[in-house]
Amino acid sequence: MKIRTLAVGLMAGALVLTACGKEGSPTDSGQQAQTAEQNVTVAGSPTFDKMKAAGKAIIGVKEDQPGLGYKDPTTNTYTGFDIEIAKLVAAKLGFGADKVEYKPVPSAGREQAISNGDVNYYVGTYTINDKRKQQISFAGPYFVAGQGLLVKKDNTDITSKETLKGKKVCSVTGSTPIQNVREKGYTEPENIVELQNYSQCVTQLDTGQVQAVTTDDAILKGYAAQEQEKFKLVGEPFSKEPYGIGLPKDDKALRDKVNDILQASFDDGTWQKIYDNTLGKSGSPAQKPALERY
Ligand code: GLU
Repeated sequence: MKIRTLAVGLMAGALVLTACGKEGSPTDSGQQAQTAEQNVTVAGSPTFDKMKAAGKAIIGVKEDQPGLGYKDPTTNTYTGFDIEIAKLVAAKLGFGADKVEYKPVPSAGREQAISNGDVNYYVGTYTINDKRKQQISFAGPYFVAGQGLLVKKDNTDITSKETLKGKKVCSVTGSTPIQNVREKGYTEPENIVELQNYSQCVTQLDTGQVQAVTTDDAILKGYAAQEQEKFKLVGEPFSKEPYGIGLPKDDKALRDKVNDILQASFDDGTWQKIYDNTLGKSGSPAQKPALERY
């Protein structure tokens, strides 16, 4: 295990060195340089008009999900797959990285933050579903995850969702995984621990207050990669979580524009590059989903 950690450390070091050596190349955190598009118009989009008037894009994100949406506490910079997708969309709408403001919004606050106009759009492991579509709109999907389980490395009795009975299982308020655990009864209601953020669940896993954390495998892989000595994923993914970009309801003009941006990134290799530099580092192959146009 020591040797593996060392190897990973060396690899990370090599990536940093490579990144430093070349001007404009992606950094060790996978950040891509995105040039802001000039003279963009999105006719008939009230959200875009608002962004233009404010001179910036306010994007709702997660800040505690390494590899996806993560704010480095020492540098205060945001990194991850979702952040790069958010940045790409902003750049194609005419807002460079210096015109982007990230607003962390937990799972339970997303629909409200979007419909209140606190954020212009939201990119943060946000599953497209019909219930949410009653309040907001989605562009995408730009990725498909699946529900998984994170346990302590030395745990041997949890191997799948079928082995959760009698165990404390943590997930997050307002998320599809907690709803799934409840509805399907994977564990007893009194054993479901509901918190605000996944990082809080991971802390409880670490201290032994819960025996498993459940949410999208993509999120869990990020935590496992951060603390390889402590945690592991078990079992096969047991749901489909297509990630969308949350937008104000009925702003069809912006939704179409964002879908065009995503499609172009699928076609010209940008999506692949972003994936390889972020989520792809965990070794999972990339799957580009088909966009849902509605
Ligand atoms: N993708 C799931 C959801 O949107 C779980 C991850 C999250 O809570 O952000 O509910």
